[in-house]
Amino acid sequence: MSLEHLGWNPYFDALWADSRTEDAVPGRISAEHKQRYQVMTAERELSARVAGRFLHQAAGQEDFPAVGDWVAVTGHDNDGEAVIHAVLPRRSAFTRNEAGLRTQAQVLAANVDTAFLVSGLDHDFNLRRIERYLAAAYDSSATPVVLLNKSDVCEEIEDRRTQVEAIAMGVSIHAVSAETGDGFEVFEQYLTPGQTVVLLGSSGVGKSSIVNRLIGEERLKTHEVREWDSRGRHTTTFRQLLALPSGALVIDTPGIRELKPWVEAEDVSATFDDVEQLIAKCRFNDCGHNGEPGCAVGAALESGELDPKRWRSYVSLQKQAEHLSARRKDLARRQADKAFCKKIDQYRRQYKKLNKDGRLGRKWD
Ligand code: GDP
Ligand code: ZN
Repeated sequence: MSLEHLGWNPYFDALWADSRTEDAVPGRISAEHKQRYQVMTAERELSARVAGRFLHQAAGQEDFPAVGDWVAVTGHDNDGEAVIHAVLPRRSAFTRNEAGLRTQAQVLAANVDTAFLVSGLDHDFNLRRIERYLAAAYDSSATPVVLLNKSDVCEEIEDRRTQVEAIAMGVSIHAVSAETGDGFEVFEQYLTPGQTVVLLGSSGVGKSSIVNRLIGEERLKTHEVREWDSRGRHTTTFRQLLALPSGALVIDTPGIRELKPWVEAEDVSATFDDVEQLIAKCRFNDCGHNGEPGCAVGAALESGELDPKRWRSYVSLQKQAEHLSARRKDLARRQADKAFCKKIDQYRRQYKKLNKDGRLGRKWD
């Protein structure tokens, strides 16, 4: 497979020129399992681990290679494993942040071009959820595309589409059916050679069914089981970067499959009613629950009435909800910008046309 078919493009080419080391070649991470990696180069697929120097210099989880990453890799060392020396800067990344700690952010998929946000058109249809996945996609820098799956069991497709349009301005929305294949022609424009995509959405919306239909006959070959070659031990794993017959690539890691978009403040309140009732009893309205006098939370933690684990998860979810609300504002702003640019483009086209028709008096280009 050529590098271009693996997703290499002028962007990475420019980065490579900056960071090349003597005998290293570029490769793309196709699977990761406990810090052992599968790397696809233009020539072959290698088992690899990171160089010792890399280990020392890595500041956190986020610095380590993830599926979809482009890395600089050199040939086999004594263990018969290739060595990864550097990770090229990512164009986009889906991460899972552990309770807001930057250094704990784990990359679930890197260098994704298009994120399909899959939603079922059945009873599971949920606008708030689509909104959250949209925020996650914008957060990653991948381009979101909404897929409304199970069109075969929905009577009011156009109605639903209009509802989604209202919350996802400027985002492409397509109704498809993984069951019948209806609407699948829309994939052509996204699944061109070298393009990398992910499918996001809650369990049961039809992500696997869509991928299986796209892979078609070659399913078994693509999911082929690989073996890790490491000090005599062999671990079985699956490739997590799959090539589609169209030449595009799909990233399907366990992390991406389980990616849960941020929670809402209302969700937290609904689940932590007991905690919020305690907070209401604190003496100060702006109690930080850090040993302030009259803190009902502190008292409940001490008496055992409130489980510290429950308190910690409340705090962590609350933080996520705040983060989402900031994200949401940013998203709204970006969508407004997009709408504004569209308007400007429209005026510019009108102006050009008038100019071309000689209706403006003087020439302009
Ligand atoms: P995933 O959890 O998102 O990967 O969802 P699956 O692909 O496993 O699908 C969940 C269920 O929905 C399965 O029973 C599928 O057969 C069904 N399903 C998937 N796509 C469609 C569709 O387009 N129409 C209908 N009617 N059912 C579908
Ligand atoms: Zn308090």
